Amino acid sequence: MEVKENLQEIRQNIRQACGKVNRNPEEITIIAVTKYVTIERTQAALEAGIMNLGENRLEGFSDKYEAIGDKAVWHFIGSLQSRKVKDMINEIDVLHSLDRKSLAKEINKRANSVKSCFIQVNVSGEESKHGISPDEVVAFVESLQAYEKIRVDGLMTMAPNIEDEDKIRSVFRELRHLRELIISKNLSYAPCQGLSMGMSNDYHIAIEEGATHIRIGSKLVGQ
Ligand SMILES: *Cc1c(COP(=O)(O)O)cnc(C)c1O
Repeated sequence: MEVKENLQEIRQNIRQACGKVNRNPEEITIIAVTKYVTIERTQAALEAGIMNLGENRLEGFSDKYEAIGDKAVWHFIGSLQSRKVKDMINEIDVLHSLDRKSLAKEINKRANSVKSCFIQVNVSGEESKHGISPDEVVAFVESLQAYEKIRVDGLMTMAPNIEDEDKIRSVFRELRHLRELIISKNLSYAPCQGLSMGMSNDYHIAIEEGATHIRIGSKLVGQ
């Protein structure tokens, strides 16, 4: 399918999910996750009206950034090794996978300006998933005060890859609850308005539960 047609269908589903819970579709940023596809396909996504791109590996990001540069807003959504920070932190716009103090420290050292970050939380508790555990999130955010280049703009999670919609929903709901806890702390460096959650198979549920950033790969740019 053409990216354009996929995008139309996704926008329709977003409107529908927003309608159910009285949200404005304009609150939702669609991030096209281009990790499986070529530069050409990524460019087709931009031509179809996508502005936000997501990559989960430094190599994939660098290749595409070289071709596309500042014509897109770049989201890094994969786990990030501290030693790679210097190679990308000033090229990306938003990091969705801040999950440890050593990484925050390295970003603080390498970033030229304040960096928009989402804290990755392992809500489902699956061992295969990155992210900090829910009961450590608030203390972790508080510990970031010392790093003037880090701004906590939201939380990010991945739901388990299962059929059980109630279980998926409860993961998203928990992330939203954690966001409210952080907001209630009134930390100037952690406005934390964002919720990065929802992928190809579950973004409709994520939107009903308050997602502000959905990360869609296969159903948007997949072919
Ligand atoms: C690959 C990936 C996505 C997109 O997955 P799809 O199921 O293809 O939509 C979203 N978020 C992260 C962190 C990913 O690694």
